[in-house]
This record gives sequence, C-alpha cells and structure tokens, in this order.
Amino acid sequence: MSASKDGGPAFPIPIASTPDGCVYSTMEQSAGKLGGIVVTASDFEAKAAECEGLRDDVAKVTNLYASALGRALSAEARVKELEKYREDEHARMLSWRDIEPDEFCETCGGSGTRVYGSTATWRGGIGGQALTADVCDKCWGSGNKHRAWPSMRVRLVGEG
Ligand SMILES: [Zn+2]
Repeated sequence: MSASKDGGPAFPIPIASTPDGCVYSTMEQSAGKLGGIVVTASDFEAKAAECEGLRDDVAKVTNLYASALGRALSAEARVKELEKYREDEHARMLSWRDIEPDEFCETCGGSGTRVYGSTATWRGGIGGQALTADVCDKCWGSGNKHRAWPSMRVRLVGEG
C-alpha cells in the first residue's frame, strides 16, 4: 500500500479484504463482494429492540417458573403434612380399638370392615353391581391380624 505525504494511509481507506484480493473503500462495496450483507444503523436498532423484547420474554418465563416452583414446593409440603396426619390418625384409631400399630389386619386396616366388589359381600357367590361394605372376612371384625373373631362362614355357612 502506498502512503500519503504525511505518513498516513493513502485513499481509499481499505476497510475489508475479499477472497478475490480486492480492497474496497465503502461498506456497501465490501458487502457486495462478501455475500451481500450490509448492516445499517436502523438494522442494528431493530435487532437491539428485538433483543430487548426477548429479554422481557425471558424475564416473564423466569418469573412463571419461579412461581410454579414455589407452588409445587408448597403442594409437596402440604402432601407431607397430610400423610403425617393420616398416619397419626390411623395410629389414634388403632389405639382406640386397642390394636398395636404392628398388629392391624392388612385387609381392613384395623377397622373390622371392608368394601366388597359386589352385594354378595363375605358370602361370595352371585352378587349385584354395587360396592358393599361388610365385616372383614380376614379378622371377622376384630381388626387384629393375631386375634380374629369367630368366622361368619363357619358359624352361618359351615365353611372354613
Ligand atoms: Zn380385617
């Protein structure tokens, strides 16, 4: 490149080199040889505004996520609270029936009654299409798996 008399670069000022080895003095000329990309100030401003909009969207999504996470954590804490309540209530009801926590009948949970899938209940046989509550056919109402009450099948039907 030649130099001007004062030592600075000679005009035109090269701003880009292209694969064909040419040097162009304007952005438009360079862009034409580099693939037609010309970025103007208004393009830049439009992209900046678009970025600003995207930043707002990211902030909204982040807030929604934080809110959802907070609600999920609250719900999880409430579920644990209710599970504890259920365990405590079950232990209290077993205590009321004088059944130790490790002695309750697994079939009826210690209540002495259970729900059968038909109106036949513990008798079996042909029943209707209704869920029916009746005495538990494992503990026969005691609620204790180690101390079952007399079997209704033996007493009323003659079957063990
Ligand atoms: Zn039972």
